[in-house]
Amino acid sequence: MRKPFVAGNWKMNKTIAETRDLVSQLSEKISAITGVEKIICPPFVSLQTASALIGDSDIGLGAQNMHWEEKGAFTGEVSPAMVKELCGYVILGHSERRAYFNESDEIVNRKLISAQKYDLTPIVCVGETLDQYESKLTREVVSRQTSQSLRDVSPDFAPRIVVAYEPVWAIGTGKASNGLEANAVVKDVIRPALTELFGLETAQAIRVLYGGSVTSSNAAEFFGQPDIDGALVGGASLKLDEFAAITRAAAG
Ligand code: PEP
Repeated sequence: MRKPFVAGNWKMNKTIAETRDLVSQLSEKISAITGVEKIICPPFVSLQTASALIGDSDIGLGAQNMHWEEKGAFTGEVSPAMVKELCGYVILGHSERRAYFNESDEIVNRKLISAQKYDLTPIVCVGETLDQYESKLTREVVSRQTSQSLRDVSPDFAPRIVVAYEPVWAIGTGKASNGLEANAVVKDVIRPALTELFGLETAQAIRVLYGGSVTSSNAAEFFGQPDIDGALVGGASLKLDEFAAITRAAAG
């Protein structure tokens, strides 16, 4: 059985002081919710503060990105070794990284191989743009992103990977996909691509999340789908009660 998973992607929001407030309150609200793996991903500069506040509760901490190299002359970047000191998880290939920072499948794959080396649980994002959706290219695009971003991973590490299916047109727009449509992409496109890479058993073990305007009002619709194992939550993860309600909905 795949354990439900909820991740909050704070994006470029919350100062260190604001992080202190939100994490303290969140920690009280969600650490008692069992049956779901729950993580938050604040900006890099707030990770240490968040880490101290989370302490040894069962809330995990993730980075929103990292470089693939261990160290060196990469001004402004953060290495996997640095992330590993504070986090157990890392988001890779978010559509905003792909769109605004030119991250290709090849770059996402390098980062994934690095996550494997540093024993970080990766959340690898895939999803089609509005243009691609309207041109009926969803299957082709998502299949290619999955196959190329997740290639050359060791069979031992593969079950640790979490994939997030995030249609770009649904991110931050308030226009979520719907349960049936999102489930069809996961079942008919992502899991077959995972099967080709890792075999059926591993493909069935890998958790696949939905992301894109998830709120406490629509979360249950996605979590009720057989191939969707949780959510990557952006905007709603910044709201205490919303994120707590989504986490509770994932726990079932
Ligand atoms: C995201 O940042 O991955 C995301 C899905 O954002 P939102 O929930 O705000 O659409």
